[in-house]
Amino acid sequence: MEDLILISNLNDFIFCPASIYFHGLYGGADKLTYQSAYQINGTKAHENVDAGKYSTRKSIITALDVYSQEYGVVGKIDIYDKDKKMLIERKKHISVVYDGYVFQLYAQCFSLREMGYDVKRLRIHSIDDNKNYEIACPEDDDDMMKKFCSLVDKMRIFDLEKFHQTNIEKCKKCIYEEACDRSLIE
Ligand code: SF4
Repeated sequence: MEDLILISNLNDFIFCPASIYFHGLYGGADKLTYQSAYQINGTKAHENVDAGKYSTRKSIITALDVYSQEYGVVGKIDIYDKDKKMLIERKKHISVVYDGYVFQLYAQCFSLREMGYDVKRLRIHSIDDNKNYEIACPEDDDDMMKKFCSLVDKMRIFDLEKFHQTNIEKCKKCIYEEACDRSLIE
């Protein structure tokens, strides 16, 4: 069986493939050490969901482990509303709907469908300002679907040994910069 891709890594890979390596390396370490305050806020936003406290309504499913055999992706959904057939991913604060957020939803959507759930709507919710961003389903957006497939293919063949960062701005914003031997910051 081919290697599985973690759904949470789709967005990180777009930011910088090497960051996934550090994310994995420090995944079990003290989060205070390796997450910025902003990211910790984001983690807190997920705590109620991860602990299954979001809702007692039977139509709401939270923090479900999901897997797609077709795309070889595995992860966890945030919220699925059975009545609305809607998959929702909550983020602490959305200023831009990055492609990586959409691809995470796609991967969750494909996984849920393979598992027998009917998903007709996708939504990203920004908690801080209570805004919703409706996302077209993958079958309704050819360009994004092609980009999703291309990303999954690139992740499968990625070789860290051959990777060189070319964008110093990314390193400037990166929480792993001090530990990273690919950083462009002298
Ligand atoms: S420091 Fe730069 S090269 Fe290293 S993981 Fe961060 S963005 Fe990537």
